[in-house]
Amino acid sequence: MPGTARYRSGQRWPVVLPLLVALLGGGCRSEATLSARDQRIQVLTTTGILRDLAANVGGDRVTVTSLVPDGADAHSYEPSLRDIRDVVYADVAFSNYLLLEEQAVIKALDANLRDGVPNVSLAEGAVKYAAEIIPLVEDVSLDTIWLGMRVRGTGAALGANRSSEMLLSATTVDGPGRMVAYVTESFGNPSFAVDSGDGFDASNGYRDDTTTLPPDAHTHMSWAFTKPGVYRLSLRARLAVDPRTAPVPMGEQVFTFAVGVDPHSVPGMSETLDSGHADLTVDIDQRRLYLLADPEGGGEATQKVYDPAHTVIGVPNKALLEIPGDRRFRFLGRPGTQVYQLPQAVLGKHVHGEIDPHLWQDVRNAIAYTQLIRDTLIGVDPEGAATYRANASAYIRQLEKLDTYVRDTIAQIPPSRRHLVTTHDAFGYLGQAYGVRISGFVTPNPAAEPSLADRRRLTETIRNLRIPAVFLEPDLAARSTTLTEVAHEEDLRICPIYGDAFDRDVTTYVEMMRFNAESLRTCLTTEK
Ligand SMILES: [Zn+2]
Ligand SMILES: [Zn+2]
Repeated sequence: MPGTARYRSGQRWPVVLPLLVALLGGGCRSEATLSARDQRIQVLTTTGILRDLAANVGGDRVTVTSLVPDGADAHSYEPSLRDIRDVVYADVAFSNYLLLEEQAVIKALDANLRDGVPNVSLAEGAVKYAAEIIPLVEDVSLDTIWLGMRVRGTGAALGANRSSEMLLSATTVDGPGRMVAYVTESFGNPSFAVDSGDGFDASNGYRDDTTTLPPDAHTHMSWAFTKPGVYRLSLRARLAVDPRTAPVPMGEQVFTFAVGVDPHSVPGMSETLDSGHADLTVDIDQRRLYLLADPEGGGEATQKVYDPAHTVIGVPNKALLEIPGDRRFRFLGRPGTQVYQLPQAVLGKHVHGEIDPHLWQDVRNAIAYTQLIRDTLIGVDPEGAATYRANASAYIRQLEKLDTYVRDTIAQIPPSRRHLVTTHDAFGYLGQAYGVRISGFVTPNPAAEPSLADRRRLTETIRNLRIPAVFLEPDLAARSTTLTEVAHEEDLRICPIYGDAFDRDVTTYVEMMRFNAESLRTCLTTEK
């Protein structure tokens, strides 16, 4: 599922559609597998889009396969044993990185590529080829705090790299009820970061209450509390630089929550955090934990450090919600009883950094990727240099035409109508490069009934801007979300757009970008 992990589903408990699950399970992997017997250069990519770019440059001299199958979500796909075999046979590997891929994919590459095999992060490397990067904008507005966990710093001074992991372990929770922090995965199944209900087991290293994050990343999760009162969570951080050495202690900290009670009533506390994006943060350089919060919502520019010894995280009474009937939420309690919950606010596993990783949505960035792929293949296979140069030039000419086509096509949309309303935040580059405003992500809260205020906000955005259509990735169009519901109510079209992955209908990068431009033009220009 393209981008399911970051799908902002609307404010409902996630619904599993058996059909979608079936599609997911049957996602078509690229046919090729890598082999030691094949005399061609064995090229491994993470995603299908990168596979297509590499195949265009490599031509007949290479065999290319991708780890993430078409139709699967790059943000959450975990490699299989068969995938590891491909890694072992690869002569060169291309990832996007910037935390696009699930960390397990990156670790599989970094741990299993043979010595000396180039392991290229295209999004990072392409900057030297004039690719432009932009920050990831998180514009979720909730009426409660949006709370996650974060690692600040790269840990390079400690020898950490992109495969390293921070282990964030809850060691105790004191409070009147249970505290459960959990991530709702793409199809609604919860995975637990903290669960005070089954105790904390020091003998297994707090394994069941540990969240792992790569350096310089953060993740979003839901926080549920079964009773009102004050809760104190002890969190311990250790940095696992690599699998062979013992994790390095990064400190321990107590975080205080005022649940349904006045935060000012907690003794010794001078600050309350009850709005904006905030993370329980471990700072690698300072080896300490604190709260990093952004109450003003300005991103990195307005983030501030709060000392957990004097700061209460407020969980107000408006965070009360009824546990739904769906059995996957039975861990919270009996359906119909109430819990306090801070929402994860994005559907699916959502680990990311400060930079938007979806660079290819600007065709000029794909040209930079192509140039880096060309130069990398020449390094691996110098005899093929002339072929790679010729293939890359021909493909770049196609991409230049594509860039013009996308720009001209979008330019045919009246400027006042160039609004992309969608749920997956994959289109920042498209917006910036081709003059489309990314307007009104659905206010997301996958673990609660839609709030009327959220719905009203979306409806007003659509009416005020006179938006004729909303956009969803094809696999998700059938799924009922606040976005599709409001679209039906307002009699808007629901149109397809591709983000991170191909499917049966769109199988190349050029097709994908043409399709997106045409879909925007058709749906935003004409009335339903
Ligand atoms: Zn994405
Ligand atoms: Zn985030």
